[in-house]
Amino acid sequence: MSDEPIAFIDLKAQRRRIGERMTTAILSAVDDGQYILGPQVGEFERKLATFCGAQHAIGTANGTDALGLCLMALGLKPNDAVICPAFTFAATAEAVAWLGATPIFVDIDEATYNMDPKALPLALDMARRAGLTPRAVITVDLFGLMADYDPIEAFCRDNGLSLICDSAQGFGASYKGRRAGAIGDFTTASFFPAKPLGCYGDGGAILTNDAGYSELLRSLRFHGKGADKYDNVRIGMNSRLDTLQAAILLEKLAIFEEEIAARQAVAARYDNALSDFVVTPFVPAHCVSVWAQYTIRIPATQRARFIDEMKARGVPTNIYYPKPLNQQTAYKRFPVAGNGLPVSEKVAKEVVSLPMHPYLDEETQSYIIAAAREALAGVARVSLA
Ligand SMILES: *Cc1c(COP(=O)(O)O)cnc(C)c1O
Repeated sequence: MSDEPIAFIDLKAQRRRIGERMTTAILSAVDDGQYILGPQVGEFERKLATFCGAQHAIGTANGTDALGLCLMALGLKPNDAVICPAFTFAATAEAVAWLGATPIFVDIDEATYNMDPKALPLALDMARRAGLTPRAVITVDLFGLMADYDPIEAFCRDNGLSLICDSAQGFGASYKGRRAGAIGDFTTASFFPAKPLGCYGDGGAILTNDAGYSELLRSLRFHGKGADKYDNVRIGMNSRLDTLQAAILLEKLAIFEEEIAARQAVAARYDNALSDFVVTPFVPAHCVSVWAQYTIRIPATQRARFIDEMKARGVPTNIYYPKPLNQQTAYKRFPVAGNGLPVSEKVAKEVVSLPMHPYLDEETQSYIIAAAREALAGVARVSLA
C-alpha cells in the first residue's frame, strides 16, 4: 500500500500505466494542429462503434450535450413528454427541459437502482392526463449496470416511443450479450474523467444504428451545417469532441477491455468480503456491470456515522445521489408517475459508494474492507422491500 491517501477513483494510477504512449499521442495531436475534428476524432468514432457493436458513433463535447442532441434529432418540442428515472444525475432530465419538454419521473427497482419497467404504463398514463405527448424513454445504466432492456424495448415499440439509453455510467457494460451502445435508438456516453471510460476533460458520444440519425447528429453538433459548412440548414449547436480528447481516448480505449476485467476482480473481492454484513450490489446473471460505482446500503439513521468512521480511517466515500430529481429545486415542478417515488426516496437515504477503480490493489482494498467491517459493527442490514 502506498503512502498516498486512498483515492476514491485513482486516475493517476492509470496515467502511470499508459505513460509514454499517452504523452506521445497528446503531443502528436498538438503538433498536427488539426484541433477541431482532426483525424483522431474519426478514428476514435470508428473504434468506439466497433467496440460496442453499434453502426455509428458521433463524438460530442460531453454526455449532457449528447442527450440534448438525441432529443433535437427527435424534434422534441414543448408539450412533449419524456419518461426517465428520478434516481440519476440531473443531466438526464436537464436535456429534456432544455427543449421545453417535460420529464416524467418514474421509480426504480430497489435491487438494481435502475428504471422499474413496471412503472412505465403509469408514466404514460400520467403524460396523457397532463395533456402531453409522450415521445421517448430515457433509461439510465446507473452505477455501470444496464437497465432491464427487454421489457423496456418492448414497451417503447408497443407505444411508439423512442428509446435513448443514458449510458454515461454504463458504457462498457453488457446486457444478455449486447453491449451498451447497441440497444435503443440512441445510446449516449460521457467521457468525464471519473466515468469508466474517461478523458482528460469533458467529452461524450452518441451511438446509433440508424444512418439517417447519424448524419443528422453530425449536422446538429456542428451548428446545423449542410453539405457546405456555411450553408446552415437547421438550428444546431456547437458540440464536437475535441481532437485532443479523441487522441487521449484512443489510448484509453485500447486498454478498456482489460480495465473492465480488472473492475470485475475488484467488485468480486468486495462482494466476497462484505455481502455477509451489508447489502452489496445486485448484478443479474445476464448482465456484466462496468462498475462505475460500488454502492452499498446503510440504514438511513446510521449512514452519516458510517461515512465518518470510514473517513477517520482514511477511506473516502461518496453518496450518489442524496436526493432524487423529484426532490431537487429545479425539478420538483415536473410530474411523477403513479403515487410518488417511494423506492427512489428510500434508497437516496441509504446508498453510499466505496472506492472503485481498476487499479485498486489487493492490499489497499483489504484495508478498505477491514475499515468497512469495523465501521459496520452494530449496523443493521437494510431490508429490501
Ligand atoms: C455524468 C452523467 C451525465 C453527463 O455527462 P457529462 O459528460 O458530465 O455531461 C449524464 N447522465 C448521467 C447518468 C451521468 O452520470
